[in-house]
Amino acid sequence: MAEIRVDNLRKAFGEFVAVQDSSFTVADGEFLALLGPSGCGKTTTLRMIAGLELPTSGQIFLDGEDVSFNRASARDIAFVFQLFALYPHMNVRKNIGFPLLSQGVSKAEIRTRVEETAKLLQIGHILDKSVSGLAGGDRQRVALGRAIVRRPKCFLMDEPLGTLDAEFREVMVHELRELHNRIHATTVYVTHDQHEAMAMADKIAVMNHGIIEQFGTPQEIYNRPASMYVADFIGSPPMNFLKFTAGVQKGDRSISLEGVDVALPEVHQDLAPGELALGVRPEHIRFSDSAALRGSVYGAEYLGTNQIVAVETGKGLLKARVPADRTFRIGETVGLELNSEKLSLFDCASGRAVL
Ligand code: ATP
Repeated sequence: MAEIRVDNLRKAFGEFVAVQDSSFTVADGEFLALLGPSGCGKTTTLRMIAGLELPTSGQIFLDGEDVSFNRASARDIAFVFQLFALYPHMNVRKNIGFPLLSQGVSKAEIRTRVEETAKLLQIGHILDKSVSGLAGGDRQRVALGRAIVRRPKCFLMDEPLGTLDAEFREVMVHELRELHNRIHATTVYVTHDQHEAMAMADKIAVMNHGIIEQFGTPQEIYNRPASMYVADFIGSPPMNFLKFTAGVQKGDRSISLEGVDVALPEVHQDLAPGELALGVRPEHIRFSDSAALRGSVYGAEYLGTNQIVAVETGKGLLKARVPADRTFRIGETVGLELNSEKLSLFDCASGRAVL
């Protein structure tokens, strides 16, 4: 297996810069998700690692070796696309074994490795079936099998579950993570779906306009978003922002939100007065009659185990995830308590976190 290191990687298509000076490391056996909206440069980054696109500048290292300009076939990487093309005239066994056949591996060895792979993916019972009659999930497993059978140094996957319906997708998310736990192959996985990234990845790189906004574990990205963009992209509903104008000083443990004092985790830098945004996740808001921050209920969305209640505070709309056992009237006045340990604070001009 292998470590992938990307150093100041850049890709321009004419004047347009699709990937801007990205640097990150995927440790041996780690699963990295490149996450972001359409057009943010995820696929271009992946294609450069695969060798399907040459960098404009920067380098790519596989296990310490500079492979930036090596041909794709010389990189020992398996690429799983969204639209997996299986050979329709071959059965499952032949489809999985095909990459080995073209590498000149002996027939006996191919048989053993195909059977091992099928066992890993729990598709041993369909090995002699034609691929044309297979359901979506099994087709995807065969496509994965074809990638795994080569025992490549790492896997690159570009929205491999993109064509599956929601139910199958959930099953495959679970299966892919299980598979990763078993084979520990270094993996880079492109997705625009935060749930897939959070459920599968050890590390997530959140991308925006060709830039990596934050690189970290799912927990770091969720609990300590580095920017308003990340805070807004991750979470459902996303983080709430309360915008206000103030200055802060290093060491401050509270902030005045236009007359309402809100406790904060310790501030680590001075900030001249300007527009700030207090960030709070919906599950970190509690209703309390004695709370100083008040608002009126705008709407409620019942979700069974809990509900999302939208409250207009006069400083912005806040969505709170609260127990489902209380019914709220539209227009009802409520007090909102924010969990001070879980708050984020952003400088609106730069969009960066300042806590
Ligand atoms: P998607 O999920 O839609 O593929 P993405 O985040 O993977 O999005 P990329 O496919 O990497 O984004 O594309 C990033 C930007 O680069 C897009 O604006 C795209 O139009 C542009 N781009 C990609 N390939 C080329 C190319 N060969 N020539 C010109 N522009 C390109």
